Amino acid sequence: MTVAATAVVKMPKKQQTGKKIDKGQVSINSVEISFGKGSDYNLAVQETNLEIKPGEFVCILGPSGCGKSTLLNSVAGYISPTKGQVLVDGSEVKGPSPDRGMVFQQYSLFPWKTVKDNIAFGPKIAGLSDSECSSITNTFLSMIGLSNIANKYPAELSGGMQQRVGIARALANYPSVLLMDEPFGALDAQTRLMMQENLLKIWSEFGITVLFVTHDVDEAIFLADRVLVMSASPGAIIKDLKVDLPRPRDPDLATDDNFVALKKQCLSLIRSESMKAFEEHNH
Ligand code: ADP
Ligand code: MG
Repeated sequence: MTVAATAVVKMPKKQQTGKKIDKGQVSINSVEISFGKGSDYNLAVQETNLEIKPGEFVCILGPSGCGKSTLLNSVAGYISPTKGQVLVDGSEVKGPSPDRGMVFQQYSLFPWKTVKDNIAFGPKIAGLSDSECSSITNTFLSMIGLSNIANKYPAELSGGMQQRVGIARALANYPSVLLMDEPFGALDAQTRLMMQENLLKIWSEFGITVLFVTHDVDEAIFLADRVLVMSASPGAIIKDLKVDLPRPRDPDLATDDNFVALKKQCLSLIRSESMKAFEEHNH
């Protein structure tokens, strides 16, 4: 769906249609990603195959340096796989597109633009009229609960607020996939929990596929329908865990037997992978 096609509709996608989500299918077909040549050669991601269904919330969990960002960047179109291909809704990813919104750990808002103008940036580039841009901006400002700070600049906001604006800015392009690279990694624990709940609320209203990278086990289980655990470098998905916990997720889930069992499973996988990476680096 292009921005222009959706711009006049003020409600988030799922509420507009009331239909089953049919956009945001991600297929990673035999993707391998390496950097450099000769003595600089570095295999970052081993051959990976993955199918993500429209509307699914998938977390990629793994130790630092295992290739999580590299894999995510190949879906974003910032990196071309050395082998294989990434498809979104059947089309090969050949570069970045507003159809695949990205949110990074570092706040990547335009510091010289107000909150409102940051969110309106994508729709403006897409050629929408001022009134269409401002209606989209208002929709997403209220979705993230920040209508009252529309005219502030990023430097005047807390880290958590900046990340909410970053999410709104990505969503204002009506993407079919939202890609998030440790988006809450720089936030304090309390803010992080609130952001997780807020994101789940947005996700359930918007009906969008989310691919979320984290090294935090609790975060991955709390958010995801599926947790993909990656091995130490060169990264490969070693476990595809279904998270069968009820939604809406409640922070009290952290003491639920199923949550604890999943956490133990993830922790032991991550621990053995981190040990491997540590030993390799010390040889
Ligand atoms: P993670 O996000 O899991 O911490 P990354 O995907 O950032 O890991 O990195 C995986 C591996 O790929 C690392 O060995 C890293 O040094 C390497 N790498 C990532 N990006 C580049 C790049 N642009 N050029 C060369 N090597 C890279
Ligand atoms: Mg990373």
